[in-house]
Amino acid sequence: MNNMKKILFLFSASILMACSNVDKEPKTIVDNSNEAVVEEVIETPTERPVYREAETILTDLIHTKLEVNFNWDLSRMNGVATITAKPHFYTSDSLILDAKGMDISAVSLNDKALKFAYDSSFLRIQLDKKYTRKENYTVSIKYVAKPDERTVGGSAAIMSDKGLYFINPKGEDKNKMPQIWTQGETEASSVWFPTIDSPNAKTTQEIFITVQDKFVTLSNGKMVSSKKNADGTRTDHWKQDLPHAPYLFMMGVGEFKVVKDTYTHPDGTKMDVNYYVEPEWEPYAKSIFGETPKMIRYFSDLLGVEYPWDKYSQIVVRDYVSGAMENTGAVIFGDYVYKNDRELLDENDQSTIAHELFHHWFGDLVTCESWSNLPLNESFANYSQYLWDEFRYGKDEADFQAEAEMDGYFQSAQMSGYHDLIWFDYDDKEQMFDGHSYNKGGRILHMLRSYIGDEAFFAGIKNYLQTNKFKPAEFHQLRIAFEEVCGEDLNWFFNQWFLGSGHPILDFSQEIDAERSVVKVTVKQKQNLELSPIYKLPIQMMVCDANGKRTEKVVVDQLEQTFEFPFNGILKCVIYDQQEMLLAKVRENKPQEQYIFQFYNSHKWRTRRDGLMQGSKGKGAAIEQMVLDALNDPFWDIRITAIEKAVKLEGDNKTKGLTVITDLAKNDPVSKVRAAALNFLNNNSENNSNIAIYTERIEKDSSYLVVTTALRQLGKIDPDKAMGLAKELETEKSSKMMSGIAQLYGAYAGPEAMTYFEKALKGNVLQGFDQLGVMNSLTFYVSRQEPEVIASSFGIYECLKSNSGFYTQMFLPQNINFLITGFESKLEELDAEIEAHEKNKDAAYADQARKLKKSYQDLLDQFNTLVQE
Ligand SMILES: [Zn+2]
Repeated sequence: MNNMKKILFLFSASILMACSNVDKEPKTIVDNSNEAVVEEVIETPTERPVYREAETILTDLIHTKLEVNFNWDLSRMNGVATITAKPHFYTSDSLILDAKGMDISAVSLNDKALKFAYDSSFLRIQLDKKYTRKENYTVSIKYVAKPDERTVGGSAAIMSDKGLYFINPKGEDKNKMPQIWTQGETEASSVWFPTIDSPNAKTTQEIFITVQDKFVTLSNGKMVSSKKNADGTRTDHWKQDLPHAPYLFMMGVGEFKVVKDTYTHPDGTKMDVNYYVEPEWEPYAKSIFGETPKMIRYFSDLLGVEYPWDKYSQIVVRDYVSGAMENTGAVIFGDYVYKNDRELLDENDQSTIAHELFHHWFGDLVTCESWSNLPLNESFANYSQYLWDEFRYGKDEADFQAEAEMDGYFQSAQMSGYHDLIWFDYDDKEQMFDGHSYNKGGRILHMLRSYIGDEAFFAGIKNYLQTNKFKPAEFHQLRIAFEEVCGEDLNWFFNQWFLGSGHPILDFSQEIDAERSVVKVTVKQKQNLELSPIYKLPIQMMVCDANGKRTEKVVVDQLEQTFEFPFNGILKCVIYDQQEMLLAKVRENKPQEQYIFQFYNSHKWRTRRDGLMQGSKGKGAAIEQMVLDALNDPFWDIRITAIEKAVKLEGDNKTKGLTVITDLAKNDPVSKVRAAALNFLNNNSENNSNIAIYTERIEKDSSYLVVTTALRQLGKIDPDKAMGLAKELETEKSSKMMSGIAQLYGAYAGPEAMTYFEKALKGNVLQGFDQLGVMNSLTFYVSRQEPEVIASSFGIYECLKSNSGFYTQMFLPQNINFLITGFESKLEELDAEIEAHEKNKDAAYADQARKLKKSYQDLLDQFNTLVQE
């Protein structure tokens, strides 16, 4: 399951009326001293602490067979579930299944009816006799699933727990292909079939899906047959012989196009890798998903465990309730992955594709035994994004993204609080899907890899997978798998990172003793010790002197420690964490020339970026030269940082810098760099020459990011010209382009742009996040207009309220309230104006103001109806 990035993105960047993000770093309670006295407070507990134990296994599921068909008019599913099971250990004559909000009409065993009790949550079946753990039995349950008739819950990662979704089932919305899909995680599969809906259950499965012949179906496993029925319907039979957890069951139905691809196993056998997309996206399916076979190969090799399942299909659905979901061999994505070839130049979704694929080992093959152990699934899936970036785009890119992941954890923890990674006392299992289980866990795995080394790390993972395959696991099993390989007791590592909360806050400083040719590096741990432990942190420092570079391995494990390193000649630099692996907030202190040195001499992104950032403080020839050199750096993020720092350039260097940046704006291979250069030029060079550059980019650049950036910048200089050029781009069938145009119109356009907003927001090109962005632009736009124009926007908001994406719905009230606040202050203004006119006896003016007031009052009343119900 993957949604963290999107959620954080929402809170951090895209929102029109976002509140300021106050830094709530835990306060340091311990000062610099080694002998800090923490007063011991012994609280007498009044009740036992909560402990979320794994579900007790009473029954082993063995096989689940489902026969289903759909009632599209009522959004219901008719089903027969035939479940083979046995007592797990203790002899039993009952079977208890999760079954949520169903109608259950009959339960039988060998065609004999069985007694059952059903309370809308649990189905308790009285078996015909007592069974021992050596005896299998098979029961058959006839039922109707009614997902739309239940009250729903959800979480940050998964917005709903309906389990089974009928999207536009009656075809009333011409812009949305009718479809059915499922979302099991966490415990919603039991809305569409009776099962033991727990991650520590596993079962093989087969599903017979009967649909109208025009529909394509998808489920887990292989399609073993597809037969036309006498009534014109067709029944597809999907079967998976390898067991997996019920939350991974999947069904998809719709008029999808299937774009076929292939993966070849090392033994030469072929496996289907298919992409299910809506017809208009068929030409782009391979551009979007085409690296999948390469990814399967890479991960299989890296893990030493070949991809274990029958096939790998990926499907894109509408109105999805999360980012993506790792249903075994049948992965679902939200429609944000639909990108045409031009859009893919700016951004692709390979991270999410890798994430879901990696779950096929971590989650699907070995499954967390309880939601408290969810990091066993999500931390690995998160870390796969690093592994793929490292392989596909290089270490700089991987490290760059890793820092964003770490920031995601910091943000998530600030918003929702700190807790242990393996979290046994959550209030609600849905809380597990946060920046801890994903981002923090991913970074922890990276620290472990940095500590024990690549060979031991991947051997440990292989051991874990082979030992626990097709079984549930808890985090101790992971620790033991690594311990077996590397021979070291790793409890210290797992205790502080898996069973602890928070993160180190580290303060590094150095003192150079030139006389003795020694540098003293002091490290202080400043985290809140009520929240976090004193960490043990094996760190590799790099010392650079006349002899070159050397690595010094140290173990930081006290509140304050000083390490002494001799140097030869002049000390050139100390890099405190040369592996760039620490999950920590780090403050460091060193002479500026060391930063300039590390910019030129390190081979790692963050060290070089920090070198450029910190080394360019102040003024001087060396600094200006570094900025100029960084503009030509091989890694794109360093070039962008250099563009930001180019304001430092003066005189001849400024001229040189502008020449380079103008060239980057036109010719840099990375669109983000071209866009950054365009932004820089507007603030730092002549408008006249910029108009030509912006116009050229708008007309010629292949990247929508560059085109929309140029539009925005041109808008600042010459809004009419920018809008004239935007007009010609209105027909581009790209969500990103539309959102960029909307931003321009939001800031500058007059009444005539309302039709553009209407078309965009009522059409089907805009994807979830862009739809939200366009709505935000509309709100800016509307807030600048006269009452009649504002009134004409009401219909659009009304339409968005009844039919729009999840995020648009989520932020619609904020947008409406923004307008309402505007109306209210306008009314106050007009009251004051009327009073002033009356005082001056300007009856005509007063009358005019009163009329205007009436218009705003009407708007207020009208827009209030959108938020009041
Ligand atoms: Zn995931």
